[in-house]
Amino acid sequence: MRSLATPMLLLTAIGLAVILAHATTTGAESPQTPATPTETTMSDHLVLTDAEWRARLTPEQYRVLRHQGTEPAFCGGYTATKEHGIGAYHCVGCDAPLFTSDTKFDSGSGWPSFFQPLPGRIASVRDASHGMVRDEVTCARCGGHLGHVFNDGPKPTGLRYCINAVALAFKAQAATPGTSPTAPSTTSKATFGAGCFWGVEATFRAIPGVVDARVGYEGGTLAEPTYHDVCSEDTNHAEVVEVDYDPAVVGYERLLEVFWANHDPTTPNRQGPDHGSQYRSVVFFHDTEQQRAALEAKRKLDASGRFRRPIVTEVTPAQTFWKAEEYHQRYLEKQGLPNCHR
Ligand SMILES: [Zn+2]
Repeated sequence: MRSLATPMLLLTAIGLAVILAHATTTGAESPQTPATPTETTMSDHLVLTDAEWRARLTPEQYRVLRHQGTEPAFCGGYTATKEHGIGAYHCVGCDAPLFTSDTKFDSGSGWPSFFQPLPGRIASVRDASHGMVRDEVTCARCGGHLGHVFNDGPKPTGLRYCINAVALAFKAQAATPGTSPTAPSTTSKATFGAGCFWGVEATFRAIPGVVDARVGYEGGTLAEPTYHDVCSEDTNHAEVVEVDYDPAVVGYERLLEVFWANHDPTTPNRQGPDHGSQYRSVVFFHDTEQQRAALEAKRKLDASGRFRRPIVTEVTPAQTFWKAEEYHQRYLEKQGLPNCHR
């Protein structure tokens, strides 16, 4: 029944989107329109069957996008204003760009909030459910439910688009491997998963040329995961250490040696007593040179006969690094414990 209703809603939505886009772009101080989002147009609608949506989305994305669900406040991520750098927030259902980071603000609501969508990307429909009259906003391309729009936003529009984070996928501008808008130019970044991250961090901190390190979660699906989330094994995040190093002092090859010397890379999803996908052996590379070096080192290690079983280490592109809770940072130091990996 949802699939029958969708085309009607879309047609209504398109008209409203045009009005809304007009209303929100007449402000004198409109933020800059980003150069890139041209991959979809208003004639480029995505219409899928219910079964296809179920197959494409996670259960939570499906509940929110296709059944007007709402995620709990502060649980979906993307709430901190500047945390995710410069880029665009895309619809997780159809990949259409919806909002740019320069229109995002911290509303304190627990949901990512924007004062202006990209022109023509959002449709608005009056929603009288739950005993309230609100304006529901949907993706103009796929009709997916995104959230609601309120009249209490900041200038220049005075609007607050309150959006479920689970409906969004952030894409950093010029998000090519090896670039980071915040990384100092004199250091490089390396990311490794080698079991319990407490010991891995301590190991790398001891290497001359490593200028900083932090522990976190990477490679999974949930934004802003907690340790509890990761331990549930539902997120597929790995416990990782992100290392800032000075390539003039220590090479990436040396970091790879340290990585492989300090864990067992032959045990899938397991390090000693710790088992689960968060303990998998993984190299997240930041550029093609790191990728080449990691694959070459892995091949040599396999060929060396040092391990009886094959190396199962994943070598995969770096994704969003979610810094772990403060009590996990420099954990062994704080506990006065020796490094458990030695
Ligand atoms: Zn969409």
